[in-house]
Amino acid sequence: MKKHIHQWKVWSRTDKETVFHCDCKALRSRQTTPAEKARIKKQSRDFDHNCELQNRVCHEFERKFMAWKTETCKIGKAKPMKFTSQVGWKWSGYELMERIYKWAKKYPEDVIICGIDDTHFASSDIVFVLHRIKRRLWGTSCYVITQCDGIPPKEFFMYPGHREGIQEALAKMARYRPMGI
Ligand SMILES: [Zn+2]
Repeated sequence: MKKHIHQWKVWSRTDKETVFHCDCKALRSRQTTPAEKARIKKQSRDFDHNCELQNRVCHEFERKFMAWKTETCKIGKAKPMKFTSQVGWKWSGYELMERIYKWAKKYPEDVIICGIDDTHFASSDIVFVLHRIKRRLWGTSCYVITQCDGIPPKEFFMYPGHREGIQEALAKMARYRPMGI
């Protein structure tokens, strides 16, 4: 029988330990080297930086237009932890729409506003906020803002795959001419 020679592949890596595995299910581990440690650090820094970059405009939108509350939570003797959660919106209806138009001028590439009608037939908006880095799109936060005061906006999120589906639906609708024209 031919002798099996392990083919080691990296299975997992932390600051301390790197584990290798072979297809024969054998495992071995060794200390993570300083060079590998530095690479992990850089990757995690890049990841954080990219997250911040791609969510930058949306985070500004959330800070500006949504209402937040910060609570402190203390469990036993542990240091108290602060966490912030959304508790609604600072404005609604026409006032919110107007404020968003004004803000969106800062980000002509990242914020797209389309007109729709709400259930009261009042002109309303759907606001798309892109999460992107240069020409690469991670996804789009979407907000339906009705003109009627006091109705909180509705939110949803689109990954590029969702966008494709919606685009197909819109293309189907575009085959028909608007009535009365
Ligand atoms: Zn093996």
